[in-house]
Amino acid sequence: MPHTQDQRKFVYDFTEGNKDLKDLLGGKGANLAEMTNLGLPVPPGFTITTDACKVYLDSGDEPAALRDEVSEHLAALEERMGKKLGQPDDPLLVSVRSGAKFSMPGMMDTVLNIGLSDSSVAGLATQAGDERFAWDSYRRLIQMFGKTVLGVDGELFEEALDEAKRTKGVKTDVELDAGDLSTLVDEFKGIVAKETGRDFPQDPRTQMDLAVRAVFDSWNGERAKLYRRQERIPHDLGTAVNVCSMVFGNLGPDSGTGVAFTRDPASGHQGVYGDYLQNAQGEDVVAGIRNTVPLAELERIDKASYDQLMKIMETLETHYKDLCDIEFTIERGKLWMLQTRVGKRTAGAAFRIATQLVDQGLIDEAEALRRVNGAQLAQLMFPRFDDKAPGDGKVRPVGRGIAASPGAAVGKAVFDSYTAVKWSRSGEKVILVRRETNPDDLNGMIAAEGILTSRGGKTSHAAVVARGMGKTCVCGAEDLEVDTKRRRMTLHDGTVVEEGDLLSIDGSTGKVYLGEVPVVPSPVVEYFEGRMHAGAAEADELVGAVHRIMSYADRVRRLRVRANADNAEDAARARRFGAQGIGLCRTEHMFLGDRRELVERLILADTGDEREAALGALLPLQKGDFVELFEAMDGLPVTIRLLDPPLHEFLPDITDLSVRVALAEARHEAHENDLRLLQAVHRLHEQNPMLGLRGVRLGLVIPGLFAMQVRAIAEAAAQRKNAKADPRAEIMIPLVGTVQELEIVREEAERIIAEVEQAQGVELKLTLGTMIELPRAALTAGQIAECADFFSFGTNDLTQTVWGFSRDDVEASFFTAYLEKGIFGVSPFETIDRGGVGKLVRLATEAGRATRPDLKLGVCGEHGGDPDSVHFFHEVGLDYVSCSPFRIPVARLEAGRATVTGG
Ligand code: PEP
Ligand code: MG
Repeated sequence: MPHTQDQRKFVYDFTEGNKDLKDLLGGKGANLAEMTNLGLPVPPGFTITTDACKVYLDSGDEPAALRDEVSEHLAALEERMGKKLGQPDDPLLVSVRSGAKFSMPGMMDTVLNIGLSDSSVAGLATQAGDERFAWDSYRRLIQMFGKTVLGVDGELFEEALDEAKRTKGVKTDVELDAGDLSTLVDEFKGIVAKETGRDFPQDPRTQMDLAVRAVFDSWNGERAKLYRRQERIPHDLGTAVNVCSMVFGNLGPDSGTGVAFTRDPASGHQGVYGDYLQNAQGEDVVAGIRNTVPLAELERIDKASYDQLMKIMETLETHYKDLCDIEFTIERGKLWMLQTRVGKRTAGAAFRIATQLVDQGLIDEAEALRRVNGAQLAQLMFPRFDDKAPGDGKVRPVGRGIAASPGAAVGKAVFDSYTAVKWSRSGEKVILVRRETNPDDLNGMIAAEGILTSRGGKTSHAAVVARGMGKTCVCGAEDLEVDTKRRRMTLHDGTVVEEGDLLSIDGSTGKVYLGEVPVVPSPVVEYFEGRMHAGAAEADELVGAVHRIMSYADRVRRLRVRANADNAEDAARARRFGAQGIGLCRTEHMFLGDRRELVERLILADTGDEREAALGALLPLQKGDFVELFEAMDGLPVTIRLLDPPLHEFLPDITDLSVRVALAEARHEAHENDLRLLQAVHRLHEQNPMLGLRGVRLGLVIPGLFAMQVRAIAEAAAQRKNAKADPRAEIMIPLVGTVQELEIVREEAERIIAEVEQAQGVELKLTLGTMIELPRAALTAGQIAECADFFSFGTNDLTQTVWGFSRDDVEASFFTAYLEKGIFGVSPFETIDRGGVGKLVRLATEAGRATRPDLKLGVCGEHGGDPDSVHFFHEVGLDYVSCSPFRIPVARLEAGRATVTGG
């Protein structure tokens, strides 16, 4: 490959970036730059771009220009700070922190105190006037560097630290003095040398370069990969690296560190929310190791810093026009901003904050709609605990923690991640109970219904990660004494909760119960059901906010939303939820239960008369189904799909029946009907039924089947018409691959409809269209449109056939491996594969409309209710999406968002 000089700029000073450069500088870097340019007190530093990381991850080497660029920016930083990195008499120290485009709390590496060495530790002691602090900082550097950069087992350092405390007969780190810590530094250096075969690097620049490389590498650490898969963050973004001059929150009682929110991330209300930890470094708060005090107490501890912080928070909220979260440090009475970002929030708070900001005049309604999403709405539709339910005596409140992530979770207590995963695999619902969580608990958190911790605040690892996952979490429930070793916890009154005991936790109130609390429906669902009005006294602010945003989404959206519903009950619910018709009624569901036997008779029919008799028995039943459906959807379109699945699905299982017949034959008792049935089962047995005799092929091969269904639809519509109602039936043919199939079915259908119209004396105005769910149908859509009034994309089958995936087989067998290998970030059955399946949808849309400009176009595969896919269907220009009734509000919201986000 010819060598070309990479012209890109790989390092940006904090003064050079801004908040819109997240792709390049990562979220943290972009926002540090933004704050710097707002004139806020940010410790100076620079950011190494995600481009540099990508080059490194692709080639295994940093880009050639990086070293010189870093030298330049480091020199500028040193000049500004008036001291050099690691300068023996007054060392400049820096932190090296990861910072990707999307926040990945605790998933990647950070190294603090870079620049300390045997020769500069004394300089730091002199400058800080605190020898103990200097040695403690040095031992923290070797520990962090050893673990994250050099890959030394962190336990070895922890053990050495514990040993030092034991020898001295003390309990906490704080009781170790400068001498003890200096001895510990020697031990730590010994550990590094022994484990890695080389000495802890004394050269500050080497420390920095190795730390930067370790941050790059941590992008592909197992924890980070798992988190990205969960959060659907693409694997190819890479991380930026922030090199920032150190400020210290652990220089005494006039120092400290904290986290703050400009609003409550759980309720959205304005106020003073956050945690503060005196005489501590930032990592101590985020890790939730020591208990913090509420931010409001800072006013008493250090009024000047508190006042300044409040002002900064206001500046940030008006500047970002959104809830911001902040990490700050106070070093000897001087406030420093270490980070800000538009803060994560609960789903409820997202809706509330968006409408509050509209009311404050900070954003308009379109922006409010952009600020919420379908996944959040779906979360709000979960049921909650019923605190008014009469207890059965067995349930009792046992503690209260911080409401860290909402929802109601019930499950058996487990005290470690391994058991959480094991039990949940065997179908148990579990609550993961920990003193505090750390990134190693991720698998357990995923497996659990909810997470309960006894330590840590709203910004602890457990809280942040659970909120991101949309999982119920109560943290910092201090009354509960968790003993993970003995797998149990002790309550305030001495009661012991063992592994396997039932717990209920309420992530909206922070309450913890022993036993199983009954759950009630969500108020948002009550609102959608029409049982609660947004303006009613009992409706809370959340329902009002959802109502306002949904109404706006409905006003602006172009896509209509229909439901996939097969019976009147689902149809009625769908209508309450805002469905504008039925996009898919799968008639096969009408052939089950008692009626299965009639299908059996149809299949076994030897003569025309027998077949007619079976069809004749089915006709009135089908007609009755359709009448009910038209009633529920009066005035709205109802797309009825003729029978799709292979007939053998209505027959007994081949193995079961073979055994039964064989046993009966052995006893000379075989029934003639069973023998005929077995023959039929053999005849209809297919190696690959998905690609076999199904869909339109059935209609063409089984005489009278589609005709009966068309007649039932026409007669039902006529009956409703004659009752002065407004039925709007659309007949849909599945699995068409070529226009000729459709022509034959259409001819017959038109004849039957005309017969019914004449007999009943009504004009039915039925339309007839087809599903586009085979690649060939999409590729010949221009021709097919000559014979179809509408297309409905069956993206379930289209995905199966475009990829050559049999969904039932592949999802269970190798999809996990594919997701793990990053072949796709999300299953193509969940979110439309834009590049493949989506391309065919686009092509067929264009070709269909070219033939027939008034062709109606919709989608009825599961993708119709998936947020990202809804945006795609909007872009392509479909007329409607159709999804399951419960997803309808999500589809309405996302259709609105697609309009205001332009895609
Ligand atoms: C489809 O294939 O997308 C579809 C809606 O049909 P079914 O899922 O019933 O095969
Ligand atoms: Mg299909």
